[in-house]
Amino acid sequence: MQTSQSTLHIGIVGGGIAGVALALDLCRHTHLSVQLFESAPAFGEVGAGVSFGANAVRAIAGLGIAEPYRQIADRTLDPWQDIWFEWRRGEDAGYLGASLAEGVGQSSVHRADFLDALASQLPEGIAQFGKRAVSVEQDAEQARVLFTDGSEHRCDLLIAADGIKSSIRDHVLQGLGQPLAAPRFSGTCAYRGMIDSQQLRAAYRARGVDEHLVDVPQMYLGLDAHILTFPVKQGRLINVVAFISDRSRPDPSWPSDSPWVRNASQEEMLAAFTDWGDAARVLLECIPAPTLWALHELEELPGYVHGRVGLIGDAAHAMLPHQGAGAGQGLEDAWLLARLLADPQVLTSRPQAVLEVYDAIRRPRACRVQRTSWEAGELYELRDPAVADDEQLLGETLAERFDWLWDHDLQSDLQEAREQLGWKVLV
Ligand SMILES: Cc1cc2nc3c(=O)[nH]c(=O)nc-3n(C[C@H](O)[C@H](O)[C@H](O)COP(=O)(O)OP(=O)(O)OC[C@H]3O[C@@H](n4cnc5c(N)ncnc54)[C@H](O)[C@@H]3O)c2cc1C
Repeated sequence: MQTSQSTLHIGIVGGGIAGVALALDLCRHTHLSVQLFESAPAFGEVGAGVSFGANAVRAIAGLGIAEPYRQIADRTLDPWQDIWFEWRRGEDAGYLGASLAEGVGQSSVHRADFLDALASQLPEGIAQFGKRAVSVEQDAEQARVLFTDGSEHRCDLLIAADGIKSSIRDHVLQGLGQPLAAPRFSGTCAYRGMIDSQQLRAAYRARGVDEHLVDVPQMYLGLDAHILTFPVKQGRLINVVAFISDRSRPDPSWPSDSPWVRNASQEEMLAAFTDWGDAARVLLECIPAPTLWALHELEELPGYVHGRVGLIGDAAHAMLPHQGAGAGQGLEDAWLLARLLADPQVLTSRPQAVLEVYDAIRRPRACRVQRTSWEAGELYELRDPAVADDEQLLGETLAERFDWLWDHDLQSDLQEAREQLGWKVLV
């Protein structure tokens, strides 16, 4: 397909948070034609919580989805509305400090609700389901993606938003002459569950645990383990993630025939937290049927873009969840790409140049977020080489550790991108 003078054809593979958010923005612009391909029979997310930092909340607003987000988002109640997490000792819930994010606090949603809210805004005819991409080709004129059902789609730009196991990442890395990058097991697993907040309140009351711990997001820290909680569904449910890490091997591996997510027993989960105090154990006792997630991540990639094909979201920079930042980075990717593609000057530019600039601006930051997400896990689990179990230093470090991530100026990214493209400033 030739890039027509009036329309740029964009294919998106993968309908998770990053792909759907991008499609939603792009389909509003008359010079863009957008098709999104999802392998599953419908959009779907797991029934767990996901939280967003101030940077991600700004990207959400910039993508034009602030209103559906606002309708389902949770915030911590007044007077704790600015608290991202309170940090506590796992063994007795002793207070170590708090991280404050002024004006945002802990902004979170139920994942499935969020994706539903986004997907419901997508006009008919944009998304196609049951389309599993298997390979990509490109030449000077177009990109072509092939699906397992034998069909194909041709477009000017192809955006891979197909998650950590991306089917398109190899094409990009090969095109760049770089080694391939497979997801790697981090050595950390996470038990996940949701608790009815009234049930937790009653259980805490019965065991003499302060109910404040229900209302305010909490992170309980211990050696090689930590547990986080925050309310979702307007406070009706408490999202719980309990992490355990095996640091005995420098290069941990996960059996290739084992699923990354499985059902787990409560006994198994409680056995991993035997020495922990009531606040943590009562939480876990309220989760009869947790799931266990083997957490994988990607190494920092040497490039997100090859020619007409680009990676966004977890396909580009899957990271550990310790800063609650993975989906937010996917939203920042979507926001910057959408702002560039939405500019009609894209029609008179080489479309590949837009992807190159996206890569140049977004990759250094996303890599830093990946790196610091891993480091955050070391800090929470008392393995940071400089802080270890020094509680005062831990509290002080955590208080300001995330500011650079949340305070990032997305508009300056856009301005720099436009300068690199040599585009006129819009008035
Ligand atoms: C325990 C845990 C907690 C987390 N907490 C947070 C948090 O609080 N805040 C935060 O910002 N992030 C968090 N994250 C990270 C976040 O979940 C991810 O970064 C985010 O969901 C990735 O979105 P995505 O759209 O890039 O990819 P995915 O959500 O993986 O979506 C990819 C989509 O592509 C589809 N697909 C896959 N392969 C193909 C193919 N070949 N062809 C077509 N379609 C395909 C899939 O079906 C899926 O719909 C957490 C992660 C974990 C594991």
